[in-house]
Amino acid sequence: MSVEKLATEKTAAAKPRQIGRRAAKPLRQAAFLIGTYFSGSTLLGNCLNAHPSIFFAGEIDRLEAFRREPDWTHRRERGCRLCSTQAEHDCPAWPSEFIEKIRALDDISAYRAVIERNEAPILLDGSKRIDWLNSLYDSGLKSNVKAIICTRTPFSFAKSSDGGALRLSPMAAAASWRDFYLHTLRSLAGRGIPSLVVRYEDFAFRPEPSIRRVCEFLNIPFDPAMLTYWQVPSHAVGGNGGAYLRDPNFTPSALDKAEEWKINYFSNKPFGGWIEDKWIYGLTDEAVRQIMSVPMLNDVASLFGYDLAWFLMERTRILTENKLRQAAQALTAQGPASHVKAA
Ligand SMILES: [Zn+2]
Repeated sequence: MSVEKLATEKTAAAKPRQIGRRAAKPLRQAAFLIGTYFSGSTLLGNCLNAHPSIFFAGEIDRLEAFRREPDWTHRRERGCRLCSTQAEHDCPAWPSEFIEKIRALDDISAYRAVIERNEAPILLDGSKRIDWLNSLYDSGLKSNVKAIICTRTPFSFAKSSDGGALRLSPMAAAASWRDFYLHTLRSLAGRGIPSLVVRYEDFAFRPEPSIRRVCEFLNIPFDPAMLTYWQVPSHAVGGNGGAYLRDPNFTPSALDKAEEWKINYFSNKPFGGWIEDKWIYGLTDEAVRQIMSVPMLNDVASLFGYDLAWFLMERTRILTENKLRQAAQALTAQGPASHVKAA
């Protein structure tokens, strides 16, 4: 009998016991969404939340139990965003006695308590920060950890970063985009954490293929409920208010003042078929040149599957077509009378 055959028999004999153990205690996974602001992570998280094996917990690192120091850039949260706007209602996912209990623990013990409390086998953490994942991993959260890297082009990131409290110049935005994603790749590779990239542009235009890839990555079957994710209530902490507009528990008070425009913007948009074009009209030629002048930006973007030159060509094509169309409309509006006048 060959060595391989013996080994196979050994494995086969060992299997039923392993299956028995797993059935008694389902394997828990922690999956982390990692990305900059505006990378579409809240939308992806809400979408995956509709899968029966996944609980999207949102920005766990914003819970008061973890973020003990006051921080002017981030509001600390007591629980999920939607339930906290309905005062009389205690959130079933983050009940106050649980939040109180974990407040006394150190971060890794509190985090393990969150994973254990979770009924779905996969806890999806939408904190987005790679340093949050690094610190949990380095304190012992080493097994069954995966990262889903959410990206959006540096052009869109620069356009979205030109307002609000953290206003950044196009060049500063592009440099921070580059630094964030390089740090992410280095951190994940150094620790051997498996990762998958989800580009917002692909996901927002055709959601299903991106979601299928995520399911394969997490070893769970695809579930079509994710394509109508707003029918499953979300109990996520923090996140982009615009991504909750369809939730059955949504009330406009869940939005920050600065987010109120989103009610009209998203109200009639179907899910999918979204083309990311705000940057095309919103960034000047000078801003685009500044972004492209940031050293190594193109190299880092290419590691995430972006061809920035293609995006620039598309921008030129769309803007040129627009100009031609406007010129043609202006001519039609003037009509033949103007020719007579000119003659
Ligand atoms: Zn809730």
